[in-house]
Amino acid sequence: MIGFFTLFLVSSGLAGTGEIRDRKCPVCEESLSVTVLFSSNNAGGADPDLMRRAGGAFPLIVEPILCSKCHFATWSVSSLDEPVPEKLKTALLAQESPFVVPEFVPIVPSGPLRGPYTEGLDSKQTSPAWVRYDLLAQQLSFTGESAWLRYQAAHNAAWAVRLRENPLQEFLFDMTREQFTEALKGIDSKKERDNPAADQIDAARKILKNDALTKDQAVVAGFLLRTHGELTDLEEAWPRIVKAIGEEHLTSKVQKSIALERVYLGKALACVEELLLDPPEQVQPGVLHYLKGEFHRRLNQPAEAREAYAKALEGELPDWLKDWAKGQPELLSVVKPGPPE
Ligand SMILES: [Zn+2]
Repeated sequence: MIGFFTLFLVSSGLAGTGEIRDRKCPVCEESLSVTVLFSSNNAGGADPDLMRRAGGAFPLIVEPILCSKCHFATWSVSSLDEPVPEKLKTALLAQESPFVVPEFVPIVPSGPLRGPYTEGLDSKQTSPAWVRYDLLAQQLSFTGESAWLRYQAAHNAAWAVRLRENPLQEFLFDMTREQFTEALKGIDSKKERDNPAADQIDAARKILKNDALTKDQAVVAGFLLRTHGELTDLEEAWPRIVKAIGEEHLTSKVQKSIALERVYLGKALACVEELLLDPPEQVQPGVLHYLKGEFHRRLNQPAEAREAYAKALEGELPDWLKDWAKGQPELLSVVKPGPPE
C-alpha cells in the first residue's frame, strides 16, 4: 500500500527538492518566474514508456520555461543561460512570429488548480507545461536541432498532458484516506520489483476486474490509468467507469485529454522513427524500438506495437530494460508470440 499513499503524501516528500526564482528572458528581457530543482527524486518508479516519477508526482512538469511575452521556450533554468541562436531571436521578436501557441486554459487563481503535489515548486508561469514543451518543440524544429532533442520535447509534452489534463483528479482529491483504502481493498500489491508507478497501473487493472465497480473504485482506476497514460485501457474501460461515477459530462473531457496526449505521442513516434534510421549515441536502438512499441500501443495500434516490441526483444535491449520489462506481465503478453496454430 505504501506506493499508493504517496498520491496523498507526496507534497511533504518533495519539500526541499527545489525553489522558485525570478529570472529574465534572454530574448526580450521580460521577467520570468522559474523553478529550480535541486533533485528529481525518482522514488516513484517509472511508467512503461519510461517516464520517471518522484514518489508518484512529477517535478519534470514544473521545469520547462516559456516567456509569455515573446514566447521563447527552453528546457529548464540551466538551459536558460545558453546562448539563443540569432535566427531564433529574430523570429521571436518579429511582428509575425512563426510560432503558434496552442489554445489552453491559463493556470491562475480563478482557473484550474495547480497540482497539490507540486506545491512550492510551481513557478508563476500561467501556461501548462505541455504548452511550454509544444513551443520548445516548434523552436527546436525551426533551428534545425537533432531528432533526439525534438523527440524529448514531444515525449515530455505527452507526459505533461497526462499529468495536467486529468479530469478525474478533482474526484480523487475529494476522497478521504478511508475511501481510498476501501477502493483498493483486496488488491494485492505485493511485488518483487521496486516500482510504485508500475504497481499503480497493475492495481487499476485489477480493480477493473470487479464485475460491479463502486464510484470510488471507478475514480481510483480511472485516475491511475489516465495519469499513467494507459490510454487504450482507459478507453476500453471508460463506459463502466463513467457509469459508476455517474457524471456523464466527464466523457468529453476525458476524450479531449486523450486526443491531446495522442497529438504529442504521434510527434514523438515520428521522431523515434527518424532516430531509428540513424540512432544517436545517447540511446540504444533496442530502447528506440521499445519506445516505438509503447507509442503505437498508446495510439491504439496493437499490430504495430507488437512488431516494434518484437524488434526490441531481438537482443538489442539493455539489461535494465529487460529486467524492468519482466515486471510487466500485461506488456509481455502483448509481445509474446501466440499459441502455435
Ligand atoms: Zn521573452
